Amino acid sequence: TNQALIRNFCIIAHIDHGKSTVADRILQLSGVVSQREMHDRFLDRMDIEQERGITIKSQAVRVPWVKDGVEYTLGMIDTPGHVDFTYEVSRALEACEGAVLLVDATQGIEAQTLSNLYMAIDHDLTIIPVLNKIDLPSAEPDRHAEEIANLLGCDTSEVMRVSGKTGEGVRELLDRIVTEVPAPKGDPAAPARALIFDSVYDSYRGIVTYIRMVDGELKARQRIRMMSLGTVHDPVELGVISPDMIATKALGAGEVGYVITGVKDVAQSKVGDTITLESRQADEPLPGYRDPQPMVYSGLFPIDNAQFPELREALDKLKLNDAALVYEPETSVALGFGFRCGFLGLLHMEIVSERLSREFGLDLISTAPNVTYQVTMEDGSEHMVKNPNEFPEGKVKRIVEPVAAADIITPKEFIGAVMDLCQDHRGQMGTMEYLSPERVEMHYRMPLAEIVFDFFDQLKSRTKGYASLDYHEDGEQAADLVKVDILIQGEKIDAFSSIVHRDKAYTYGVMMTKKLRELIPRQQFEIPIQAAIGSRIIARETIRALRKDVLAKCYGGDITRKRKLLEKQKAGKKRMKLLGHVEVPQEAFIAALSTG
Ligand code: GDP
Ligand code: MG
Repeated sequence: TNQALIRNFCIIAHIDHGKSTVADRILQLSGVVSQREMHDRFLDRMDIEQERGITIKSQAVRVPWVKDGVEYTLGMIDTPGHVDFTYEVSRALEACEGAVLLVDATQGIEAQTLSNLYMAIDHDLTIIPVLNKIDLPSAEPDRHAEEIANLLGCDTSEVMRVSGKTGEGVRELLDRIVTEVPAPKGDPAAPARALIFDSVYDSYRGIVTYIRMVDGELKARQRIRMMSLGTVHDPVELGVISPDMIATKALGAGEVGYVITGVKDVAQSKVGDTITLESRQADEPLPGYRDPQPMVYSGLFPIDNAQFPELREALDKLKLNDAALVYEPETSVALGFGFRCGFLGLLHMEIVSERLSREFGLDLISTAPNVTYQVTMEDGSEHMVKNPNEFPEGKVKRIVEPVAAADIITPKEFIGAVMDLCQDHRGQMGTMEYLSPERVEMHYRMPLAEIVFDFFDQLKSRTKGYASLDYHEDGEQAADLVKVDILIQGEKIDAFSSIVHRDKAYTYGVMMTKKLRELIPRQQFEIPIQAAIGSRIIARETIRALRKDVLAKCYGGDITRKRKLLEKQKAGKKRMKLLGHVEVPQEAFIAALSTG
């Protein structure tokens, strides 16, 4: 394909602002998908994407579009819209020359949209601002066009108005993409360089790798090399997606397509890597390759320990399609056998747990998420702590925690509420800007640990759902952190150990000991429940000894009731954990963990 006739673009939008719906209309109008085949959110292929409306993987569809009698080839790239997948988004943006900034005309710009927009501007993409959902009576296109025009420094008349639902304005949008988005400018004669912007596991085809040809050409059956990994492959197939995979003989500079290399999992075909020809190698890989690191860790345990092998198998399967997911076996006194898992962020964690339960039928409990700490001891030794239970014994000299830059957009009446909340979470306020007379964007620096715990839910509840949040890791800082242990009759319960700020240690200790006192049944003897920092007890509750026999309740009662009670006790015993002399039903641990 002649590069001059290619236009590659992506759509940037906050979740639910209508990206998938507009993409559906584009597929329909261009004839790529017929009316008959069409179903909602056509490009969201995974079940969970369909149901939750979240795009996890990128998609790249070739769409023909005729303007003034000339047929253009549009490459439409759909990117994951969430903060946890910033790196994937940045690679998808790198594959484009233009971006459609899609904003819900009833909502206006949200934090996520802004951060992706800034990224698109950083990548020098041509931005086409568009208001969607103008069919809705509650749409306020004039007000939000003003907001967008202020932000981009353009005229309000340049902000397009469309409805993904009715299709209004979508033709005009496609025409404008052809006119305004620049054609790719790669060197067709140079050695081949293709950017990998996503890799997807397909149960029939294996790993399908999405690429943007930057320079040169790849032909079917030529041996290729992944420049960062240094591996060599003989591709089985290359082609374009429109909307199914269509094999082609070659992919040339500027084109977006796919290659199937026969690798077994996505870790062997990494997002951001550069593909070149083995016989004629490029000198330099394309810039920007990174190995994304997990930021949040949590233990995942099957409630029924017999499901442990199934959990391992399920994680292995998910890993095929998710290079960012890491896990290793972990044993817990309270919860049995499970895995310590690393995630890119909270949404990534939620998606993985949800898929494990939904697609694999696993019943799981997860421990509170934590971040990675660097701990230096008085004796000079250094430790990376990804799990509170790895916290070293002895005198601590310094603890360093990851910090996030957080951007919050909120209606102005909630400014005070947001400030209080951020202060509670050790946030340091930076600047604040008015996007419009009604809405502000606030910038904070905040420990990542404070964000991953329950910040987002609290932000939503304190702003009646109006505020939006975006954050990214932004350096680290030393902090006064301590590890709080919870002990039952002197015995440490690993699943409840937590690394918290010293000022919050007492609150955490009181909360956990109270909770466990309520959840653990009384036994023949008194049971102390304590919270401790090292050997210092900071909170204590006591479960008093049980005096009467349980059966006394049934005094004189009929024998079947008695038997039932005994059977119930027996069934309960199976799930008991023995901690020292204390029998604790596993349900108590689970309840204590799940109520946050
Ligand atoms: P995404 O998360 O950005 O991909 O958003 P979706 O395309 O999944 O849309 C979110 C919701 O908004 C869905 O319920 C859509 O049916 C609805 N929606 C999208 N575009 C429009 C539109 O133009 N008008 C109306 N009324 N609803 C829309
Ligand atoms: Mg979507």
